[in-house]
Amino acid sequence: MLGISDGKQDILDLTLREAEEFFEGLGEPRYRARQVFRWAYARRQADFAAMSDLPAWLRERLTETAFVGTLRAVAQKSSRDGRTTKFLFGLADGEAVESVLMRHDYGYTACVSSQVGCRMACGFCASTRGGLVRNLRTGEMVGQVTGINALLPAEHRVSRAVLMGSGEPLDNYESCVKFIRVVNEPLGLNIGMRHITLSTCGIVPGILRLAREGLQITLSVSLHSPTDAVRRSLMPVAGKYPVREVVRACREYGDATGRRVTFEYALIEGVNDSDSDAREVARLLNGGLFHVNIIPLNPVRGTPYRRSPPRRVKEFYVLLENMGIAVTVRREFGIGVDAACGQLRRRSARGGADGM
Ligand code: SAH
Repeated sequence: MLGISDGKQDILDLTLREAEEFFEGLGEPRYRARQVFRWAYARRQADFAAMSDLPAWLRERLTETAFVGTLRAVAQKSSRDGRTTKFLFGLADGEAVESVLMRHDYGYTACVSSQVGCRMACGFCASTRGGLVRNLRTGEMVGQVTGINALLPAEHRVSRAVLMGSGEPLDNYESCVKFIRVVNEPLGLNIGMRHITLSTCGIVPGILRLAREGLQITLSVSLHSPTDAVRRSLMPVAGKYPVREVVRACREYGDATGRRVTFEYALIEGVNDSDSDAREVARLLNGGLFHVNIIPLNPVRGTPYRRSPPRRVKEFYVLLENMGIAVTVRREFGIGVDAACGQLRRRSARGGADGM
C-alpha cells in the first residue's frame, strides 16, 4: 500500500483516484473519498470522528486504519512585517521539518521541505549540515501545506507551493512528483500546476525525467556560478553534472513543457559576483527561455560566505539586464525568521546540534 505509517494509510498520500480505490478496498462506495477529501482539505479537519456525514462505524474503522497527516507546528516565528512565518513541523518519528509561509499581495505561498536534512552538501546552506536524515513521504509534504492552512483564518488559503525548503526534491523523486499531483487535485488543495515550483541543485537525469512527466510546473535550478570550478567549490553536485549539461537539460525541459526555467543565483561577495561572472552567465543562458532570480545570500554561521553588498547586487542585476537576460532580485523574505534553509531546525533542540 501507499503511504503507510505505523500500518495506517495517510489520506494525504493519495490522489483522489487512489483514495477511491482505498475506499473500494474497504468495501465502501467510491464517493466516500470525495467526502473525506472535502473534510481533510476544504474544512481543514484531520479527525475522522468529526466527519459528521460519514456513518459512525465507518468513522471508527477509518480511525483504526487511516489518518489525515496534517502536521502540527512545534515552533513558529514571524518576520517583523508579519508577511513571512516560518514553521517547524513535528513528524511522527520525532524528526522535524521547516516550512515557510509567504504572504504576497497575489496570494499565499508555502515553501515546502522534501527531506529531513539533505545530502547535497552545498557549502552555504544550513539544511545540509547534518547530512540526510531521511526522505519525506508525499503525505508529509502535503501535510506541511494543510498544517499551514489549518492555522490560517478560513478566508485565507495557500494557493502556491514551492519545493524550495530543505532537501533536494530530485533526490526524492517519486514522492515529490506525487506531491505535485496531490496538491493539484481540484477537490484537494486545488493548487494549479503553474502555481507549483520545484527547485533543484541541478541533477541532470532528474531534470530530464521531470521534463517527460508532462507537468506544467515551474522548474527552478540553483546556478550560483557560471563556471564549473566555482560551482564545484560551492556545490559538490557540480562535480557530477557540469553546468553546460545542466543548462542543456533545462533547454529540454523548456522545449518539452513550454515553461520558462528560472535560475537561482545567490550572490556571494568575492565568490560569484564579478562583472566577468555576469558576462559568463549571460553567455551561458543566451537565447534560452530562461529567467535569473538573484537572491541576496542569507549568511549561515560557520560558513565563510558573506552576502554581496546591496550596491553590488544592483550592479550585477543591471549588467545582466543590459545583456538581455530576464532578471529579478528576490524580495527579502524571511530575514529575521532564520528563513535560510535549515536554520530554524538547527536552532531547535529537536533538530539536533545548533549550528547557528
Ligand atoms: N535543493 C534544492 C531546493 C532547496 S534550496 C536546490 O538546491 O535548489 C532552495 C534555494 O535556496 C536554492 O537555490 C539554494 O541554493 C538556496 N539557498 C540555500 N541556502 C541559502 C542561503 N544561505 N542563502 C541564500 N540562498 C540559499
